Amino acid sequence: MRLQDLKKADASWKDRAVHARYRVESIGSLARLLRHGPGKMAEIFRWDWLRTLAGASNLLDMAVYTRTGRYREASAYALAEVIGGIGDLIDSICAAPDRVVIHEDLVPSEIFRGMGLAPFMAEVIGIAVPLVKADWAEKYIDIAENEGTPPDTCSLPKCTMGVALDGQFPKSAAIVTSNMPCDGGMASYTILERELKSPCFRLDIPYNFYNDRAIDYFVSELKRMIAWLEEHTPGRMDWDRLKEVCIERNKAMEHELEIWELIRQKPAPMAGEAIWLAQLIHMVATPGSPRATRTMKNILKRTKKIMENGGGALPEERYRAVLWNPPTLVFPELFVWAEQQYGVALLADMLTYHRHPFIDVSSPDSMLRSLAQIIVEGPMARHTRGPAENFFDDLFYLYEYFSLDMIWMAGHIGCKNTMALNGMFRERCREREIPLFIMNYDLSDTRVVSPVDMKKQAEAFMETVMKAEPLL
Ligand code: SF4
Repeated sequence: MRLQDLKKADASWKDRAVHARYRVESIGSLARLLRHGPGKMAEIFRWDWLRTLAGASNLLDMAVYTRTGRYREASAYALAEVIGGIGDLIDSICAAPDRVVIHEDLVPSEIFRGMGLAPFMAEVIGIAVPLVKADWAEKYIDIAENEGTPPDTCSLPKCTMGVALDGQFPKSAAIVTSNMPCDGGMASYTILERELKSPCFRLDIPYNFYNDRAIDYFVSELKRMIAWLEEHTPGRMDWDRLKEVCIERNKAMEHELEIWELIRQKPAPMAGEAIWLAQLIHMVATPGSPRATRTMKNILKRTKKIMENGGGALPEERYRAVLWNPPTLVFPELFVWAEQQYGVALLADMLTYHRHPFIDVSSPDSMLRSLAQIIVEGPMARHTRGPAENFFDDLFYLYEYFSLDMIWMAGHIGCKNTMALNGMFRERCREREIPLFIMNYDLSDTRVVSPVDMKKQAEAFMETVMKAEPLL
């Protein structure tokens, strides 16, 4: 881990015990895979990404070293559940190898689980592993480029393709993808289809998706997908099982909305990874799972506890910020550092913030209709497709809702859809007198901009634009 820029908090014995407890839990979440026996272990531990993820308990260090008290405990809990959620995904593909469906991050897993399948989100590898080891994706980016992928394609799909080209995906009964979120994401599935030698289904999602006509059309797409999966996999739709998954999702979302309501207060009683990373893994990668509900419920409980004690999560909250664009995978400590150095509380990010409906579970059709709306408004894609308003409206709404002081834009060089908006972005923030920090970097490749340079850019913004005095 890259902890050299962070100052350790003066931890009490209680704080240290919290760290130890959740470290043991995290190791346990991955160690339970051993129950699948030595043959399975030998098969899956061939995968370099899984061996690297086995060190994921180090992610806890990032969350706990700089924090104390209830915020330390809440952050450590959230990180341990993130690791547990990833462990669940791997566990389910080991338990039902003939039912594995590889799916794109823009196609959530509720329907697959309703059909008794074992979903595995392809991009979870390229998202989770660089959080543990910053330069991990680079080998796979190079593999994809050497195979002919244009170098200016986003590094996340390049990494996913590289992992597939290197033979590190589980065997799958089928692949399901869509025409989202961008050209690079779409193109990566031609490689996955070829390398995994699995039949592939592509969902067609309308370009303009905030209207009834789009939802009607997309419901018919979901029905087409279910029929296709019944033909190509052992999965069969069980509407009662899907209903259970949808009810779980609704419960988790209820907790999530309450957390958002509470953190509007100043100082915010929760911030950082317990908001963005927990929700990314539990609401995007594993929505509708009992773990997701439990995690959201427990983060809410901890948020209330911090509030009841009359304080905020941070010892001194001086600024409130949102991170727009996908989070900085190669440098997740960025906001831990900004929190410690300048008192910046990160309250939301682009991937976690949504306006999804609760799922209407009254009938199969109503469930499909709600799920259709959730899928067409998928993370990242709902902001990077269609008119520019899709990108700006949510952001400026969030800015007001959380009474923010500034916007941090993770200017991922490979995300052409959002990079194209930067000129307009600057203009609109200038008109509203919103301090805007656009950080140049690459989502998964530290050779483009190193974490040290990312930090330098943030320092320059905080000290010249915000006139912030470092706390340390
Ligand atoms: S970050 Fe941008 S370019 Fe990369 S996958 Fe997401 S939408 Fe596509």
